[in-house]
Amino acid sequence: MPAVDLVVVGGGSGGIGAALAAARLGLSVLLVERADTLGGTAVRGGVHCWQPSAGGTGIPFDIYRRLKRLPKAVAITSIGRHCLWPGPQEPYPFPGGENVVDPRRRYIETLQRCGARSMAEDEAFVRECWHGVVFEPEAYCQVVEGLLAGTGRCTVLKGATFAGVRMEGSRVALLKLSTGEDVEAAFCVDATADIDLAVACGCRTLLGQDGQDTFGEPGASEEPNDHLNAVTLIYRVTPADQPAVQPLPDGSPEGCWWRPSFPVAVMDHMPREGLTVNMLPAMEGREASDMGPQAAYDECRRRVHAHWRHLQVEYPEFRRYRLSQFAPALGVREGRRVVARYMLREQDLMAGLSGQSHDDTIAIADHGLDTHGHATGRAGCRELREPYGIPYRCLLPVGVDNLLVACRGAGFSSLAASSCRLSRTMMGLGQAAGTAAAIARRSGCDLADVRASDLRAALLEQHVHLEWPLPESLRQHLTDEDTY
Ligand SMILES: Cc1cc2nc3c(=O)[nH]c(=O)nc-3n(C[C@H](O)[C@H](O)[C@H](O)COP(=O)(O)OP(=O)(O)OC[C@H]3O[C@@H](n4cnc5c(N)ncnc54)[C@H](O)[C@@H]3O)c2cc1C
Repeated sequence: MPAVDLVVVGGGSGGIGAALAAARLGLSVLLVERADTLGGTAVRGGVHCWQPSAGGTGIPFDIYRRLKRLPKAVAITSIGRHCLWPGPQEPYPFPGGENVVDPRRRYIETLQRCGARSMAEDEAFVRECWHGVVFEPEAYCQVVEGLLAGTGRCTVLKGATFAGVRMEGSRVALLKLSTGEDVEAAFCVDATADIDLAVACGCRTLLGQDGQDTFGEPGASEEPNDHLNAVTLIYRVTPADQPAVQPLPDGSPEGCWWRPSFPVAVMDHMPREGLTVNMLPAMEGREASDMGPQAAYDECRRRVHAHWRHLQVEYPEFRRYRLSQFAPALGVREGRRVVARYMLREQDLMAGLSGQSHDDTIAIADHGLDTHGHATGRAGCRELREPYGIPYRCLLPVGVDNLLVACRGAGFSSLAASSCRLSRTMMGLGQAAGTAAAIARRSGCDLADVRASDLRAALLEQHVHLEWPLPESLRQHLTDEDTY
């Protein structure tokens, strides 16, 4: 295989952002994805939604505009019923939260989450400000593949991985691919979520919850521990021909055997039909990791059957649907994180852009600190006042000079990762990584020597959202949803 400028390993949100940004800026790119489709958690994990978040401009908006051209491929949502705010006319509190398609809303309205004290306390604010994007996964893949192909410079290798790396000093000299070929690249991006490439390069990693001493975070556990955010097997239900309670498959018990009662679920109405159901949670993260991926998937499937049975028996409205699809992959919220030149931490999130002093902010985000299945039993979301910035240094692993990490395993404390991991944020990290690689290639410098001002200027040119409130120029760019 000929040498390329950039190899991106992992074709989820981060990898797509990196490959597309770099190829658009003239680099030859090889994108290596282990699965048979691109998209990662946003496709195979069943997370076909972008939650409200600051920073979702740039490539995510490009994808959204392309999706809008396809029939029933994408929609904006608002919150419908929610168990926190049972309506007087409702026969029962909804068993979780519901996001309903809201044709009145525009993309620009999906770009803020911060500002609520808490979801429970601020119903009016949350209803007015929190809007998400839902998309059909096949359409998403079609759009992403089209955008990558349109650059004329990106080769996508699906069903493949790297089988080894050859290091020369602190540089990745060569990747051995599972296809038997070797590839040389000036730069690499690890977008595998669980940072397989960084690990193979010998980078130091963290796993589990950091202790208070690790990064001086007041909200961290006193001591580090091995707890991980819970995993969920997302499932999809579609309209049934006749209202009915589906029979349980053989061997699937009834009732909830893994916790005292069934968890609540977030249900997204999809653009084409039906709902995705995200049970919060399906299994403790540590339990899933100890079981291994296949056993955890199989056990979560049994739990899904029980959960769906419970919904259909207790809430008659669900008899109008049938369970039609399990996500092909378990939704994993948390894994290894790399030790990077800067570790984003709780203090950054609480300070927000106005209190941070980084000059290398390359993405912003404002999701709360969101722990599912917390070690202390404290689960829930701590909301933020304003967006915070993610420094470029979070993508630069300590010890390897031509590697960037642009996925949920980037340089975050475990608390910061609980906020940062949203799909559009990961795509933003990818866009920054691809852009940094292009600048480094053009100027012949190392990744760490890319000037922050050049990188930020290049991202602003790509309509990436780095300031708060949304500047007027970006606002204008975002109002035009229909031309691309
Ligand atoms: C249950 C659940 C619900 C969520 N809800 C939301 C939500 O509502 N809104 C939101 O915005 N975010 C949500 N998130 C978070 C978000 O979906 C993920 O954090 C984000 O998509 C992760 O992106 P990524 O690029 O880091 O990894 P991924 O999207 O997981 O991509 C990693 C890719 O790398 C590939 N890969 C892995 N190892 C290798 C290897 N060795 N070689 C080659 N390829 C490899 C994988 O196959 C995958 O395609 C949710 C997450 C979960 C689990």
